[in-house]
Amino acid sequence: MMMNALIEEECKRQNMDMTAGDRYKYLWADEDSADYRKPTKVTAALYCDLLFAWTERQLEDPAKFPKNGEYGEAFMSSVKHIFKRLFRVYAHLYYHHFEYVCHIGTARPAVSAPANESLD
Ligand SMILES: [Zn+2]
Repeated sequence: MMMNALIEEECKRQNMDMTAGDRYKYLWADEDSADYRKPTKVTAALYCDLLFAWTERQLEDPAKFPKNGEYGEAFMSSVKHIFKRLFRVYAHLYYHHFEYVCHIGTARPAVSAPANESLD
């Protein structure tokens, strides 16, 4: 996944907070985690690590994503929550690492992928 390479190379090297400019600061919260029950300021790289692990747990939860395809009430809200958080990663990468993305020649797929998805 190209996004992972960007995070590994740039976000970990720059060690900046999870933001998309000065106006958008993203805190991490996970009610199932003792460390993050309250929204907590984390680096972008840590946010992404936590997000990808959290997303995997959501997708593996049969109450939200049943293997039989009979999706219940939790399905759509879970999908929206996952996409909202993943969009923040794109916002961070676009705002803070756009020049690097252009430099490695992946600007178009990296910044245009979520444009086709509705978050509401
Ligand atoms: Zn970053």
